[in-house]
Amino acid sequence: MMRIGFVGLGVMGTPMAGHLAAAGHELFLYRGRDGLPGTHCGSAAEAAAEAEVVILMLPDTPDVERALFGDQGVAEGIKPGSLVIDMSSISPTATKDFAQRLEGCDYLDAPVSGGEVGAQQATLTIMVGGEPAAFERAKPLFETLGKNITLIGPTGAGQTAKVANQIVVGLTIEAVAEALLFAEKAGADPGVVREALMGGFAQSRVLELHGQRMVDQTFDPGFRIRLHRKDLKLAIEAAAELDIALPNTAGTQQLMNAAIADGDGDLDHSALHKTLRREQTGGPRS
Ligand code: NAD
Repeated sequence: MMRIGFVGLGVMGTPMAGHLAAAGHELFLYRGRDGLPGTHCGSAAEAAAEAEVVILMLPDTPDVERALFGDQGVAEGIKPGSLVIDMSSISPTATKDFAQRLEGCDYLDAPVSGGEVGAQQATLTIMVGGEPAAFERAKPLFETLGKNITLIGPTGAGQTAKVANQIVVGLTIEAVAEALLFAEKAGADPGVVREALMGGFAQSRVLELHGQRMVDQTFDPGFRIRLHRKDLKLAIEAAAELDIALPNTAGTQQLMNAAIADGDGDLDHSALHKTLRREQTGGPRS
């Protein structure tokens, strides 16, 4: 059993920490919530000082930098030889920098896919970057949290895989939103169209889950549009560094900008359907 510092107890982190506690690990929680078993600490440094493994599950790159290197951050408390696992979805480039700055510790980037449901059911897909020995050390913890666990390559490679995942999911949501809006405006019942399409080549998890949310017009998060835009921003920035064109990623990011401008940034990403309808028809703004 391991002593684990857990920093970032939101939609994803809370059920993940719950599974680790249920598996018998001793948890040191920062910004802990009542109801989670473990010791509630006053800072990330305090949680790190008690632990041999520190897991981060934070929104964005600046949040991870602050939690690691800010005042009372992980770097102030961590013991040499400890393992830091960043499961947030953040910049691959910044990840390499963070791993270097945490001298004397192992570092893995291990972002996830599978959403809140995957976190609750411990069925997350986990994409890992780092040294094979560190991966082996973390494997029992990953197996408590997920099912499809892959060491992609060196530090940053897990985050790169996650950005690729977010391109596929974001563009598929946009495509399903266009298709269901088209069906509706052309006079077909979008719910029936969705069901029919589930039997053919258009079938996908996004059509199944997010398509249903679009049919029902229920957009509770889920995965916030604001967080998905962050992931596509990472893709667009990398595209400029790599001199490659990602035209549809850019277009989908623009639609997310419009959603956020309309006050829908904290809705589930399936709400791109709502944004698209408004853009196309000049419907009411929230
Ligand atoms: P969230 O906003 O619900 O949770 C983040 C938590 O971190 C919050 O509780 C916040 O208070 C806390 N926090 C922020 N800064 C902190 C700090 N310095 N110290 C301690 N705690 C701090 O976000 P989430 O939905 O749980 O997502 C977390 C990460 O996982 C993001 O990078 C997201 O892109 C990724 N992700 C989310 C989903 C999803 O469906 N929600 C799916 C896959 C990946």
